[in-house]
Amino acid sequence: MNHWRPSLTARTCYTAGVSSPLPHPLVRTPEEWREALVRLGERPFRATQVFQAIHRRNVRDAREITDLPVSLRDRLFEEGLRPVLEVDTERRSTDDTRKLLVRFADQATVETVLIPAVSGPGSVAAQSTDKDEDADASSVDDDDEPAAVRRVTQCISTQVGCAMGCVFCASGVAGLKRHLAPEEIVGQVLEGRARLDEGEELRNVVLMGMGEPLHNYDATARTLRILSHREGIDLSSRRVTVSTSGLVPEIDRLGQEFAGQVTLAISLHATTDEQRSALMPINKKYPLAELLAALRRYPLPKRRRFTIEFTLVAGQNDDVPEARRLAALLRGIPVKINLIPMNPIEASTLAPPDRTGVLAFQKILLDAGYACFIRRRRGDDVSAACGQLALLGAKPRPRRPFAAGEPES
Ligand code: SAH
Ligand code: SF4
Repeated sequence: MNHWRPSLTARTCYTAGVSSPLPHPLVRTPEEWREALVRLGERPFRATQVFQAIHRRNVRDAREITDLPVSLRDRLFEEGLRPVLEVDTERRSTDDTRKLLVRFADQATVETVLIPAVSGPGSVAAQSTDKDEDADASSVDDDDEPAAVRRVTQCISTQVGCAMGCVFCASGVAGLKRHLAPEEIVGQVLEGRARLDEGEELRNVVLMGMGEPLHNYDATARTLRILSHREGIDLSSRRVTVSTSGLVPEIDRLGQEFAGQVTLAISLHATTDEQRSALMPINKKYPLAELLAALRRYPLPKRRRFTIEFTLVAGQNDDVPEARRLAALLRGIPVKINLIPMNPIEASTLAPPDRTGVLAFQKILLDAGYACFIRRRRGDDVSAACGQLALLGAKPRPRRPFAAGEPES
């Protein structure tokens, strides 16, 4: 039976007889559940029961919480405790990366990607020295993990399209259609967990899908609080990575509100304002000096690092002087650098550099003492780059150089 129904937003989610709104059931904290249930005349202990059913047992439909009285199940279902999305397409890559195109009540679609850890010679995981710190799409081995567990990183979207207009990005070219509600963001994680293979465990969540998370700050912040709640999924904040094109006031706010605990990935992509503004219009508002100053004042805990994402575009930001400037620019900031050979998009003739150029760029940064990785293009055969599946209407794309599974450094 398809239980999928239109999503209730915080504004429409009222409980009987009381006018102040509560957040959507999928993103209520246990405290907010207590309030909601008391308003319904229920006993407060049910709050933990309902929260854990959703976030530990992954139940997204109130009618499936069988340890609740039937009348309460029906009531919660009517109030919105039911799926807020349906999976339009699931495509599995040869490297077991799974890309889901999910559809919301208004027919808007975004993508979310499940990326199992890889190990073995040549993998990013095998090379990383960041034992417990790394939380990006190339997650690392943990010594305390039983060998049988396969760690999975999930990449989620925060907006339909994106307003930032980066010229190499399919979401940017499409423009912003709308923000996602927090339940639509958390809903992607619940759906992803439901689709893990036997022996897999969700270990990292990266907000690196479609959209700019810090442009949708409130929904992003609630997502972070729900995912890291100890009574729920309990993902430590360091295992949740927010990737941003550099919205300085929101970086400051995130740093303060989460005490620097959330892992931050910065999409830098250029080392001069002229070049960065050409690739990323947001740089005109928050130029490089302001962005780097925000990183320097971010309350980063000891032994933690920022991830610097640097998408390499042939003829734009991939030459030797650029690499040297990057090394100089980041001096004194705790970072690791991920080089991402640009994934071609249909709307642009921009292209990645050839492999020799990418390796030469990396070598300069390694020689300068940085941890620097070339990001594998995981799931390339299912269009697992930013924004692509949603914009292609789930049509397959041909494989390109740096294909999935190929060691790159
Ligand atoms: N808006 C956020 C998060 C989503 S984009 C941000 O920009 O950080 C996630 C990452 O994918 C960013 O580093 C972005 O620069 C990169 N990206 C977008 N389009 C790409 C493409 N065509 N090829 C390679 N990387 C791309
Ligand atoms: Fe938006 Fe990020 Fe794409 Fe830029 S790279 S357009 S900020 S999603």
